[in-house]
Amino acid sequence: MKVVTTVKELRRKFGKVIFPPVGLVPTMGALHEGHLSLVLSAIRECETVIVSIYVNPEQFNDKEDLKNYPRNTEKDLEMLQGVLRGNDLVFIPSDKEIYPEKDTRIFNFGNLDKVMEALHRPGHFNGVAKVVSRLFELTNPDISYFGIKDFQQVAVVKALVKQCGFNIRISAKPVIRETDGLAMSSRNQLLEPGIRDQAPVIYHTLRKVSSMMKEKDIPDIKIFVRNNIEKHKDFEIEYFEIVDDVELIPVNRKDEMGNDRRYYGCIAVKAGKIRLIDNIEIELS
Ligand code: AMP
Repeated sequence: MKVVTTVKELRRKFGKVIFPPVGLVPTMGALHEGHLSLVLSAIRECETVIVSIYVNPEQFNDKEDLKNYPRNTEKDLEMLQGVLRGNDLVFIPSDKEIYPEKDTRIFNFGNLDKVMEALHRPGHFNGVAKVVSRLFELTNPDISYFGIKDFQQVAVVKALVKQCGFNIRISAKPVIRETDGLAMSSRNQLLEPGIRDQAPVIYHTLRKVSSMMKEKDIPDIKIFVRNNIEKHKDFEIEYFEIVDDVELIPVNRKDEMGNDRRYYGCIAVKAGKIRLIDNIEIELS
């Protein structure tokens, strides 16, 4: 694999050694098995894989979160070295390379940017759209890989592709979990040990939701979710919603759910100081 840090180097590589199809895996580093699963899918399907590592300040609404976000490029490169091939690239740009000038674009994603994460992280998806569109323009991939772990992000990126007319297929991959069920996340390493031990309650609650849907309606389920998670004193729910996977409109009763859509239970929890998100597909039958 080759490591490039500037747009100039990236362009030089494109002039010579890029074979299609090209797969892009955008990441913010502090890589784990979840990221690796995306990289491995890209390797299976693409002749050239580009993994970007860039902590995008534009998508952080909380300055402390940006400051504390885990960074470990050396370990990331070791991990990627084990799987990437000679022709694949790791792109590790600086802020100047991604934003040579102030990026003042304002995107409009309709309802996608009005619910769940958007309500709790104002400006987050506008920042995501800025960096993802810039990465798409720089690397011009055929396929770009994203994790369903960030369920709402996948919907926003698909909308971005449509709005900007990118000729890119978005491949959404399942959530990779620790053996105890906690969704892998770079932020997990910031959890205090006592809180980390209790964090699997989030996934276990979501699984219970999926099975409860047969007997109970959504208001009761919401009460269950809150009680089950907040019985741990350091855990506080920011939101729990059941939404469809196209418009992400929260449903309040089961009879609002159509058979032509898939539904996901999506949750954000403050676990101590760390914010965790997760989701599960709801089986209706
Ligand atoms: P991040 O570095 O957190 O921006 O994530 C980079 C990509 O990896 C995004 O598309 C995430 O959705 C995906 N990702 C993060 N965690 C997981 C996970 N546990 N399973 C699958 N994909 C993940």
